[in-house]
Amino acid sequence: MSLSDIKQRMDALVKELNQHNYNYYVLAQPSISDFEFDQKLKELADLETQYPDLQDSDSPTQKVGGDITKEFQTVKHRWPMLSLGNTYSEQDLRDFDERIRKAIGNDFQYVCELKFDGLSMSLTYENGKLARAVTRGDGTRGDDVTSNIKTINRIPKNLRSTGFPESFEIRGEVFMHRAAFDRLNNDRIEKGEVPYANPRNFAAGTVKLQDSGEVAKRPLDCFLYFLYTDKPLFKTHWESLQAVADWGFHVCEHNKLCASIDDAIAFIHYWGENRFNLSYDIDGIVLKVNNYAQQHELGFTAKSPRWAISYKYKAEEVETVLQNVSYQVGRTGAVTPVANLKPVLLAGTTVKRATLHNANEIERLGLHVGDSVFVEKGGEIIPKVISVNTLKRTPNAEKVIYPTVCPECGSNLLRKEGEAVHYCPNDEGCPPQIVGKIQHFISRKAMNIDGLGDETIEALYRKGLVEHISDLYTLYEKADELNQMERFGQKSISNMLDGIERSKQMPFEKVLFGLGIRYVGETVARKVAAYFKNIDSLINASYDELISVDEIGGRIAESLIDYFEEPRHLEQIEKLRLAGLQFVAEERELALASDKLSGKTFVISGVFEDLSRDELANIIESNGGKILSSISGKLNYLVAGDNMGPSKLEKATKLNIPIISDKDLLNMLA
Ligand code: AMP
Ligand code: ZN
Repeated sequence: MSLSDIKQRMDALVKELNQHNYNYYVLAQPSISDFEFDQKLKELADLETQYPDLQDSDSPTQKVGGDITKEFQTVKHRWPMLSLGNTYSEQDLRDFDERIRKAIGNDFQYVCELKFDGLSMSLTYENGKLARAVTRGDGTRGDDVTSNIKTINRIPKNLRSTGFPESFEIRGEVFMHRAAFDRLNNDRIEKGEVPYANPRNFAAGTVKLQDSGEVAKRPLDCFLYFLYTDKPLFKTHWESLQAVADWGFHVCEHNKLCASIDDAIAFIHYWGENRFNLSYDIDGIVLKVNNYAQQHELGFTAKSPRWAISYKYKAEEVETVLQNVSYQVGRTGAVTPVANLKPVLLAGTTVKRATLHNANEIERLGLHVGDSVFVEKGGEIIPKVISVNTLKRTPNAEKVIYPTVCPECGSNLLRKEGEAVHYCPNDEGCPPQIVGKIQHFISRKAMNIDGLGDETIEALYRKGLVEHISDLYTLYEKADELNQMERFGQKSISNMLDGIERSKQMPFEKVLFGLGIRYVGETVARKVAAYFKNIDSLINASYDELISVDEIGGRIAESLIDYFEEPRHLEQIEKLRLAGLQFVAEERELALASDKLSGKTFVISGVFEDLSRDELANIIESNGGKILSSISGKLNYLVAGDNMGPSKLEKATKLNIPIISDKDLLNMLA
């Protein structure tokens, strides 16, 4: 074969395999057996090894990542990612239209677009190559998820056309098609994993996975809907959408140019009826003023553009039958009732389960097994039982009685005075609590252990390899058992063990938070660690001593005392201490913590160059200051960064509140 024949063969394989991927993932209709697929993939991979120069960057061999990245880097958005004003009412749309007319006259058009229900993503291209993909985050900064986004077939890694600028940003919505969602979610249910509530959550969960190899297995798609360039390239949004489609981006074919608000409302009505025939979820329609000059004239409020609005479809409600109620036990032992329903189509998805919150809610609804119930699903929420159709109740229907014992382990349930939730107290013997506690311990905000995820913990527990947090630190002795675990290669094992080893260096406050003592969140853990300085003084602290610590009230003090009174907990702590974990606060933690800001209140606003807002808040709090959420006469300082909202600034100035920079703040502590 000549070189050009080989190149031709490779191109054909790339094209064919990408099509199969699309059939499999997006359409959920595989048109080739897995075996055939793997053979073709292997042929391509072999050719690529022989002729690396001929490799196509769009090749499906390049899409299966495998890099584990525990932490995403935070990236500042060049243009903030704002939200959209939204409404459920047509009158609001007409008012919006009226405001625009007042500002720019009658000569304008709307681009009407579907409002895709996924997560927004900012993509930056340099010289036609995808350079960076960043989530919306808090609007000013997001997570760099480039390696995960590169696994999405429908996002071009390299643009093949011409006419695009050297550098540009494009924004869109990453989502999962419903068919793929159903298939993968069913897989999860069969494997005993927690199913996702809807495609949006599944897509969002996927984009945040640490392992891009895993991301590649979960099909995502992306519609693009905004182009940002340094120099204006087009006069209208509509033109730019046509252009980016030519450059190779996936642009929704249902977008429509509308000459009037009546046309736009007709478009809304049409999709209100027809949206369930789409292969993906939408939760509304977005109207955007088409002309860029007019957009510019209209400008922005602090939160959203004045030239766009979204109309959201109302939550739908259906009637179905309550088959029974099951009870889920969480990490802290909290027991949540779940309604199992006769499957029913609601807002385009099949609903089988709905939340019932707690025993009071069951009581309020007066639920009986077999009741006909009304179920509602809003854009954001998991379906919820809102009421019972008592007319349809059968005479012998049995009342739903909240259990007195834990469904997972049989212990008697407890409910504390004044609380709505029941707890299973058997924290050391109840499977979901055991797994949940270890998952909490390894989580990012606690010990942040690389190479270990929730699913691995479940698998390790099922194999009997971990039952307590301390068992993680003896895993290295169990190489044989680890090697026998399915889908758990040598590399993953050594990554995991390395991560566990490194976690021994995590500071005392993280260890304390990781223990998962009820009501001891991150901030409390930090305060307690700084005050007591080591675990022994904390264990021996009296109630009075505990509540003398800033921010520790009676409820937290009691919870700490209860926790340390339990011999099993002390035994665990001893084992962890022997394993080498930190139970003494480091100098740094102690030095950082002071009372210098005690009694002072702060609001943090805007973006800072060196520190994130969380970091600033940490510094303020660990030095005794308090963070407030809004500006009032009582506030002592406004810590202001770049791009602060004008209304905040105005309010602070009016109330004569000192506005300081992050540097000023650090100087106060020096
Ligand atoms: P909201 O979060 O309700 O303020 O709505 C704003 C979000 O809608 C944006 O951040 C996007 O993620 C999403 N969205 C979905 N479809 C579109 C679209 N066609 N145009 C603009 N935003 C969209
Ligand atoms: Zn239990």
